[in-house]
Amino acid sequence: MSNLKVAVVGVGSMGSMALWQLAKAGVEAVGFEQYGLAHERSAAGGESRMFRTAYMEGADYVPMLKAARCLWQELEAETGQSLLTLNGALMIGPKSDERIANVIKSVEEFDIDHEVLDSTEAMERYPQHWLEPDEIAVLDREGGVIRPEMAVFTAAERAVELGAQLLENSHVDSISETESGVRISADGIDYEFDKVIVTAGPWTARVFPQFSNYLVPRKIVMTWYLSKRLGDYSPENFPAFGRVGGEIHTFGIPALEGTMTKIGSVATFGDVEIPEDLHRDVELTELGAINREVARCHPGLKSTPSRISVHMDAYTVDEHALVGPVSSSGNVFVLGGYSGHGFKLAPVMGEIAKDLATTGATSHSIAHLSPERFAN
Ligand SMILES: Cc1cc2nc3c(=O)[nH]c(=O)nc-3n(C[C@H](O)[C@H](O)[C@H](O)COP(=O)(O)OP(=O)(O)OC[C@H]3O[C@@H](n4cnc5c(N)ncnc54)[C@H](O)[C@@H]3O)c2cc1C
Repeated sequence: MSNLKVAVVGVGSMGSMALWQLAKAGVEAVGFEQYGLAHERSAAGGESRMFRTAYMEGADYVPMLKAARCLWQELEAETGQSLLTLNGALMIGPKSDERIANVIKSVEEFDIDHEVLDSTEAMERYPQHWLEPDEIAVLDREGGVIRPEMAVFTAAERAVELGAQLLENSHVDSISETESGVRISADGIDYEFDKVIVTAGPWTARVFPQFSNYLVPRKIVMTWYLSKRLGDYSPENFPAFGRVGGEIHTFGIPALEGTMTKIGSVATFGDVEIPEDLHRDVELTELGAINREVARCHPGLKSTPSRISVHMDAYTVDEHALVGPVSSSGNVFVLGGYSGHGFKLAPVMGEIAKDLATTGATSHSIAHLSPERFAN
């Protein structure tokens, strides 16, 4: 056990993994979570997440994604839980689209196990999709689906097993630097730490108001569509997918429980002023574009949703996260603002948090995520 004492503020997607990694490294770690573990208000809600390594957002992410996959498998091996199903991920869109170019760059530069299908080959292999003649599908065989709530629960439970302390229903009210470290006040009690990692998700700008011009929580709506034939969209037959080039950028997750396929839009449904007041109603008119894409591209699905749920994530203005120190002492770190695409990275972010807290640096390439780019 090292002598270092580290707090993790917010035990959601990133915080649970940070707690696991810290405990595994023998650090005395305490996690503060304002609600119950794996609660439905965090950015980890909604049953499933896509995991992909052929990255539309840029090939820079690929080494971290590969490291994340190993860590997902490590967590599974340590706990005996099944969290990541590697049934592949299909990236679909016109060859000329910049995001498809990023996918091709990712698979070619980083030796990702993949296959490129033209539109006819893609529809023969996956009749659940309709493709336009100029579209291609890149099958990322290193992709698949994660179970997010189970992942948060499993990582935090494992951390506790390894010696971490988890304080649920414990809201951190303030974080202040002292001469010897950092003081946290939660529910009227003061705690002293050497280092503090803030993984507060949609609440990040409340903890660090200096980022509020660059970081906002946004509403995300998930919609599930009924398969016309049971089993057609199950994980064995239907990989997760991301699709660009249509009316909107969509993504989809196979029918994990057999009947309903989750298809969502990457577009958000507006800013959330106060995360506690997330407005959960959805006007059916707001779903017009996504329903039209389902009708156009998925002949085997009913084109109005059978299930809807509302969530949020913190978005930065450039849609890349903030990862790094936020104080000149180097004792307080932020990991937040994952802008709708962070879950797959959670275990590697946990490792990065542990590296930063224990050594002040990491071997992962995070320069593009530096909080300094938003310094006022
Ligand atoms: C519906 C939806 C679908 C998505 N799909 C994908 C996908 O397919 N693939 C993918 O990779 N990513 C996806 N994302 C994005 C990904 O899920 C998020 O980027 C990620 O979960 C963000 O994690 P986080 O740790 O920053 O936030 P969270 O998981 O929300 O964790 C923050 C935690 O901090 C706690 N907290 C906040 N303030 C305090 C405080 N003061 N005291 C104590 N606790 C506090 C909160 O209660 C919360 O539990 C999706 C997001 C959503 C919402």
